[in-house]
Amino acid sequence: MSVDPPTGSASGRATVSPLMAATVKRVHYFGDGHAEGAGLGKEILGGKGSGLAEMTALGIPVPPGFTIETSVCLDYLRTGNLDGVRPEVEEALARVERSTGRKFGDASNPLLVSVRSGARSSMPGMMDTILNLGLTRAAMAGLAASAGERFALDCRRRFLQMYSGIVLEIPREEFEEFLTRRREEKGAKFDSELSAEDLRWVVDRYEEVVRRRGASFPDDPREQLWGAIGAVFRSWNNPRAKEYRRLYRIPEEWGTAVNVQAMVFGNRGERSATGVAFTRDPATGEKKFYGEFLANAQGEDVVAGIRTPHPLAADGSGKSLEETMPAAYAELVRVRDLVEKSFRDMQDLEFTIEEGRVYLLQTRNGKRTGFAAVRVATDMVAEGLISEKEAVLRVEPEQLVQLLAPVFPAKEKEAAVQGGRLLARGLPAGPGAACGRIAFTADRAVEMARKGDPVVLVRVETSPEDSAGMHAAVGILTTRGGITSHASVVARGMGKTCVVGAGEITVDERRHELRARNLTAKEGDFLSVDGTAGDVLLGQLPTQPSEVLRVLVDGTLPPEKSPLFASFQRLLEWADGSRRLGVRANADTPTDARVARLFGAEGIGLCRTEHMFFGENRIVAVRQMIVADSEADRRKALAKLLPMQREDFIGIFREMGERPVTIRLLDPPLHEFLPHEDAAVKKTAEELGITAEKLRERVRSLAEANPMLGHRGCRLGITYPEIYETQVRAIFEAAAAVRREGLRPSPEVMIPLVGTKGEFDRLKIMVDETARLVAGETGDAVPYRVGTMIEIPRAALRAAEIAANCDFFSFGTNDLTQMTYGYSRDDAASFLPAYIELGILPDDPFGTIDQPGVGELVSIATERGRAAKPGLKVGVCGEHGGDPRSITFFHGAGLDYVSCSPFRVAVARLAAAHAALSKETAASSTA
Ligand code: PEP
Ligand code: MG
Repeated sequence: MSVDPPTGSASGRATVSPLMAATVKRVHYFGDGHAEGAGLGKEILGGKGSGLAEMTALGIPVPPGFTIETSVCLDYLRTGNLDGVRPEVEEALARVERSTGRKFGDASNPLLVSVRSGARSSMPGMMDTILNLGLTRAAMAGLAASAGERFALDCRRRFLQMYSGIVLEIPREEFEEFLTRRREEKGAKFDSELSAEDLRWVVDRYEEVVRRRGASFPDDPREQLWGAIGAVFRSWNNPRAKEYRRLYRIPEEWGTAVNVQAMVFGNRGERSATGVAFTRDPATGEKKFYGEFLANAQGEDVVAGIRTPHPLAADGSGKSLEETMPAAYAELVRVRDLVEKSFRDMQDLEFTIEEGRVYLLQTRNGKRTGFAAVRVATDMVAEGLISEKEAVLRVEPEQLVQLLAPVFPAKEKEAAVQGGRLLARGLPAGPGAACGRIAFTADRAVEMARKGDPVVLVRVETSPEDSAGMHAAVGILTTRGGITSHASVVARGMGKTCVVGAGEITVDERRHELRARNLTAKEGDFLSVDGTAGDVLLGQLPTQPSEVLRVLVDGTLPPEKSPLFASFQRLLEWADGSRRLGVRANADTPTDARVARLFGAEGIGLCRTEHMFFGENRIVAVRQMIVADSEADRRKALAKLLPMQREDFIGIFREMGERPVTIRLLDPPLHEFLPHEDAAVKKTAEELGITAEKLRERVRSLAEANPMLGHRGCRLGITYPEIYETQVRAIFEAAAAVRREGLRPSPEVMIPLVGTKGEFDRLKIMVDETARLVAGETGDAVPYRVGTMIEIPRAALRAAEIAANCDFFSFGTNDLTQMTYGYSRDDAASFLPAYIELGILPDDPFGTIDQPGVGELVSIATERGRAAKPGLKVGVCGEHGGDPRSITFFHGAGLDYVSCSPFRVAVARLAAAHAALSKETAASSTA
């Protein structure tokens, strides 16, 4: 007989054929202070299993159980067979029985278990969980005898519904209807008000639903267990989980572990409870124990946000855990200190209190806002918990965007409140200010956002099915739920503005409207959501810069008044200490240059001179230049432009001091500067002192079938040399002027859209000649560099010959992507979303560099360019220069710098540090 060789797997282990299973341990027991899986890590045990093992080993009270590792999931999904792990599961189950003193399925003292998923990276709510498993008819009697009949019936009802939904695939609503009906008949608000008799009626109806469906509900505990284990493994591939993995780039081949654990009950009376806690505030990062609980409830009640929970720490309401169960609170505080020290990161805990005893059911690194990420990372360095490098890696570069996001100005907001526009106050779950049109369903949110409208998604509560709508929205509002509800957790992860638990609002899904405080808003109306304060206002509110911007750019808030700003700066300084890539900014005006410098840009990587042409006084001169019939007339118009352009450059050089400033000569086709509408043509013709017909004629003559591939870039410089000459003169005159002020500017002249050596060399001669002329006139030779953009595939391939006379390359990855794929950058939106959805493309290549294609051209050009011209400086100035994933690639490709918009400079600094540090970590782990 032959045995299949084990195949590699991303779960950290080889997958194992059933025949080999006996020799490899794949089921890991934890309980009574012993954890077989301690140290195995998330790859093998999944996040939940690993957390349970580590907590057990730390002596934290965890109900006993076992983890079936992720490699079993992969085997099962391939073979449909779990036989290989049966003996191990039986053995572990027997240990749980011994530890609890209860027997699985026993009629007098039954052991009930939970069966939960747990992937390597948390996928909240995406996969399945079954509670109260093992509650057979016989076990019902035993549970009723020890915990009361009502309790046993409540457990049975939950079990019937969960198991039937997940394993037998009977929709939840078919059961829900009976519970609702009974509550209505009894005038009860909560399930907890139903009697044993009511629940028996509900349980009978549930059993009928199963029978009617032709399904048979297993009454053998082992059959239940294996049914549940298989279903949880299969839930790895349910559509929600797949969609989540796609959004968060979680590899398909990780698989999930299954955790089987003895049940403890938070719904066993008023001395029982269930809750969640964060070791620090997940919104601000402040070091305070933060969380909420519900007395007499089971775990899913808190997460589902059906009843609004109470806080953990005393708040004077008399309802907090600290006030109602002080001993349990003290135990949780002890656990908090232990897990923070051990995991060295902010933890998100799930706990249950059963008749006064605290049990921990989960610990994982808590999802947090960008504000909290920065604060927690820097605080933990100060507390000696983590190193500066670890702190840098703890903050996702993209999270910094939240710290720069706008807020509502206090005055305007107060006026709106006074004006009666405050709809409700809910819980602040995702900071920032968002203003958008109301959508009541995820689908509508996606549709409206596609049309370009900002959308606020309004739901009673969200579920994983709403993910796409939440992504599409600028803000999220729910009327139910707490700060750990699905909406809160997901919004925080996405960095979206979010308010939850705005209970005053009634959502009328049928009429597509919401109501509160005598106000009504319909789908499409504007809503303003303040996710920092928790306020919801009707209509549109203006926004103002964030705290960081007020300190850094506006100067309206003194730095010493903002601990957040201090943390932000500290983190970025640490990042600078770790990165190799330089970070510059794309800036076209002195104002942009100033912002860029304040954000730490080390230079300007792209100054698009054409943006200056649109200035109020300039556009007329630009148009005169374009409509001119002769070179002489063109020069006359250019002479008017020269001083203006010189002033622009002087402003930028003054801002940037010695830092390099890369100025690109004119790039777009000339027709972009002319009017096209009839009225505008007439008005412009008057301004230019020519007839409308003549102007129309010029517009017609400049029209091109493919302007992006037309008369633009260096092609303009070659055919109208006087345009480029004037720009270059303005650059050198400006540099000479600021040198007279004592500054030492470093101008870099950049030629756009070069495809051949001939183009570059010819224009290089022109630049050198103009520089020489200006030096003769001013008596000062300004040091400068001349380089080219690489944005045409041919230029990338012929990089060696182009580099020969060149000081630098700057990849214009916008055009390079456009020309490599042959996708128009202005029109690709009509098919790109479909391509991404169909999996034809993994990402939008205009947002994240296409590594195998465009990226290869970048690598080729860099290598060939540097081989021909050692020391050639190479950077990137397309949009990709501000995208963290692309930055990782550019780091690996050996580029010298990236250049991005001023507001992304902080993101790029952090991303460049991540790239360097993860390489460092990878290198040291293989050494
Ligand atoms: C580019 O093509 O990447 C670039 C930076 O130039 P522009 O976007 O102005 O075409
Ligand atoms: Mg370009």
